[in-house]
Amino acid sequence: MPLYSSHAYDRSRPLGSYWETTVEPEARNYAPLEGEQTADFAIIGGGFTGLNAALRLAGTHGADVALLEAGDIGWGASGRNGGFCCVGGSKRSPGDIVRHYGHEEAARFLDFQAQAIDHVRGLLEAHAIDADTHSDGELNLAHRDKAMRELQEEAAELRSAFGIEMTLHSRDELAAMGVAGPEFCGGATLKRGFALNPLKYATGLARAAREAGAKLHGRSAVTAISREGERWRLETARGHLLARRLIMATNGYLEEELPGVPFAALAGRLLPVLSCVLVTRQLTAEELAAQGWTSHQMSYDTRQLLHYFRLMPDGRFLFGMRGSTDTTPQSDVAIRREILADFHRMFPAWKDVEVTHVWSGFVCMSAELTPYVGSLADAPDAFAALAYHGNGVAMGSLCGAAVADIVAGKTTSADLPAVVRGPLKRFPFPALRKAYLKAAYRWYALCDEVL
Ligand SMILES: Cc1cc2nc3c(=O)[nH]c(=O)nc-3n(C[C@H](O)[C@H](O)[C@H](O)COP(=O)(O)OP(=O)(O)OC[C@H]3O[C@@H](n4cnc5c(N)ncnc54)[C@H](O)[C@@H]3O)c2cc1C
Repeated sequence: MPLYSSHAYDRSRPLGSYWETTVEPEARNYAPLEGEQTADFAIIGGGFTGLNAALRLAGTHGADVALLEAGDIGWGASGRNGGFCCVGGSKRSPGDIVRHYGHEEAARFLDFQAQAIDHVRGLLEAHAIDADTHSDGELNLAHRDKAMRELQEEAAELRSAFGIEMTLHSRDELAAMGVAGPEFCGGATLKRGFALNPLKYATGLARAAREAGAKLHGRSAVTAISREGERWRLETARGHLLARRLIMATNGYLEEELPGVPFAALAGRLLPVLSCVLVTRQLTAEELAAQGWTSHQMSYDTRQLLHYFRLMPDGRFLFGMRGSTDTTPQSDVAIRREILADFHRMFPAWKDVEVTHVWSGFVCMSAELTPYVGSLADAPDAFAALAYHGNGVAMGSLCGAAVADIVAGKTTSADLPAVVRGPLKRFPFPALRKAYLKAAYRWYALCDEVL
């Protein structure tokens, strides 16, 4: 029984994201796979992970690679996210990672996160991708005094354990930085990361991968996978692809009930979770002054059920938060009401400003709350890179390149930080995954507002 209704996987219905209005439809339009095709390497999924894998395989390793995407390029989370290219990838705190993996591996994972940001910056430069970048690092805003004390502790811990500096700001300093809202009682800047238009980044990657020789196919949902001799056979509506090695880059959009060992190897091991975003019309200078928000620094609050927001270079404001726990047309309407309510509470001066776009999409979690890069159990020559816990712009990009290096035989999993090496465990009683999520949301809301 699927966790979510088919509404969430319907590639024919309009998504309604702001990003779609900023990119020419042709930039996403790659012809479907037709008839029998072959490649050394097959990739399922045309988001940051799959596109990075395709670009690395074709561009760096000169390999014969074909990528199959069920929608248009960037249809999944990659074309509809908040565009924070930042540290992250795991839902575990740095302290928890130290306890679980040891100090050295925790430092290695932090370094990997920094490399991920540099990796994206390098791709934008190398392939002349204009993705409307802005923001010098990111700003974490305390939503109450207790959260500010915790931010101070976290800053001290990061400095003493890893030599990483965060700059703390008082409420008055925030106001002087053009960052004001009734809830924000302080904050901390980490000078790592920047913001981008994710669909421009995804379509730029696709162009670069195609120019490097990768064969990209849109509207080519893989409906079944089987073995044909030494090769994988991937069925689509209009043809099939035979390939020696396979990368699953499906992240939160995996349909785990589909037939085939690679689907079964991932079944019950991932939890797709909705995140929701709104974008306003362009704000005037007077409206920005009325709220006291003029900064272009990408920001998020200290809640576990966090809100993320940024004033974009074109003057529109983007605001995101957790989504619904359902994917029906009715839940879409309900979450729209909730996100507007939170936006207006946090930015009251803009309660009459028109919100032009609201949409949702799946981020992907694992039972261990860490990303996974590596091979799949019982599936020879099949690999996956996924589960970035809502932080896949940078992390998904680097993991896509990393899994490509592994399938090409240039590196092994041992070259990666232990945090991303798995194992990718099954959730206990996977049919209850949504019940766990609903319980976690109730607990987090209590921690955020009461405890
Ligand atoms: C609303 C929202 C806001 C977010 N904000 C941020 C943010 O600000 N910063 C950040 O770092 N991260 C953010 N994320 C997370 C980030 O977008 C993801 O981690 C990242 O895009 C994952 O990339 P991916 O390529 O692994 O997966 P996806 O981009 O989800 O791509 C998977 C693709 O696989 C395809 N697919 C699945 N099954 C099949 C099949 N059978 N055949 C063919 N194709 C198939 C899907 O159609 C999909 O396009 C956000 C996510 C969402 C939804």
